[in-house]
This record gives sequence, C-alpha cells and structure tokens, in this order.
Amino acid sequence: MVARCDVIAVGAHPDDVELGCGGTVARLTASGLSVGVVDLSAGELGTRGDAAMRRREADEAARQLGVAWRVCTELPDGGLDPSDERQVSTLVAVLRQGAPRALLAPDTGDSHPDHGAAAALVQRAAFMAGVVRYRPELGAPCRPRLLLNYAGPRQLLTPTLVVDVSRAYAAKSAALASHASQFDPTGGAPTHLASGFFLAAIEGRDRACGNVIGSEFGEGFTACGALVADEIAWLFGERR
Ligand SMILES: [Zn+2]
Repeated sequence: MVARCDVIAVGAHPDDVELGCGGTVARLTASGLSVGVVDLSAGELGTRGDAAMRRREADEAARQLGVAWRVCTELPDGGLDPSDERQVSTLVAVLRQGAPRALLAPDTGDSHPDHGAAAALVQRAAFMAGVVRYRPELGAPCRPRLLLNYAGPRQLLTPTLVVDVSRAYAAKSAALASHASQFDPTGGAPTHLASGFFLAAIEGRDRACGNVIGSEFGEGFTACGALVADEIAWLFGERR
C-alpha cells in the first residue's frame, strides 16, 4: 500500500487533508509529483457514517485528488496522542516506507484536540524517522526536508506560505463532495458539517487566503522549522 513518494499529507480524520490542503495536493499531483495520504484514524466517532463508509469515501476523494495511495493507520479517533510510543512508531513505519521529501500536516492551533495532537504526532514521527538508532526494524532512516502545517477547519491561520490553488480547486471541491456522509445536507442527521454553512466557510476561507496573494483560491500553511528555499522551489516548480 505505502510506496515511495515525493510528498505525504497526513490528517487526523478521513476528510482533514481535503479540507485543509486538498487544493495543494491536487496541484502537486497535477504537476507530476507522487503524493500519499495518511489518515491517522478512521473517523469512527463521527456523527454520520461509519468507518467502512468513510473509507470508501476517502478512497474516492483520493482518486479526485490524483494521489498515488491512501492508507488509514487506524489510531483511535478522539485519542491521538503524540506521547504514545505505539502511535509514534506506527507513523514512523509509514514515513520510512514512503520516504517523502515533504510532509503536509495539521497545524497545532485548531480547536479539535485530535488536530493539535496530530500536528505534534507528525512532528515527533518526522524527526524520529530520521534517527538511525530508533526502531531500525521499521525501515531505513529518512527525514522529510520540509514540514508544512495546514489550517484546521475551525482555524483562521496567519500563513507563512500561501499556495495558489485556483486551477486545482475543482478537484478539491470534487474530493470534498466524495465525503457525502459528512457534508451532504440531505444525507442524515443534521450536523454543522452538513449544514452547508461549513463547506461555504471553507470555500470563503480559501478565497480570502487566495486574495492575500492576488489569486482566486489559496491554501495557507505555517512551517515547522525554517522554509528551505530549494525545497519550496522543488515542491511548487513547473514540471510540465
Ligand atoms: Zn478532523
């Protein structure tokens, strides 16, 4: 399932990558980079849908974004914990298999505790993946050269980096529509996520972020560590 790739995008729940950086993922795959997606949990605590349904929806969303592979590590929804050695080593194993040059992960500032925990878990695992003497049985050590953090769905991020995702926004919208159990207003119990207001707010945020750089749509990121200029050039450079 997990194969070597250029970039890995990590989310706490099966729709987090789409919401926070789906446009960026679609832009990267369209440019010819290989991207893998890791859902840390199956989203089993969600009000709507169940783990199996969410898995199918996530796979369809992955096709819309053009990603090379998508896996779920089945860590506990509502219980992500960067101090849990089993959770760290689970993610280290994935990172060593994928050996990505760049990582996209949640930002620490979102109010959902899983999102902040995921941010810390990814930071820890990304570092430990490069420690030669840490769990060598999990694979050859490697460390991403760039760790970018995307905004959570209830977070107004002051971005360090804004990616123009205008040309990729149709793919992001299609990927979000794939998560019908979460966002379809007609699909079940009324929730904030399925209110219509929620997805409108995500689009509004992405429009406001794009406006910062004079584009129709943008996705904002903070950086964990310094932004390596050559890595940014590699990540967003024209290939085709
Ligand atoms: Zn989430």
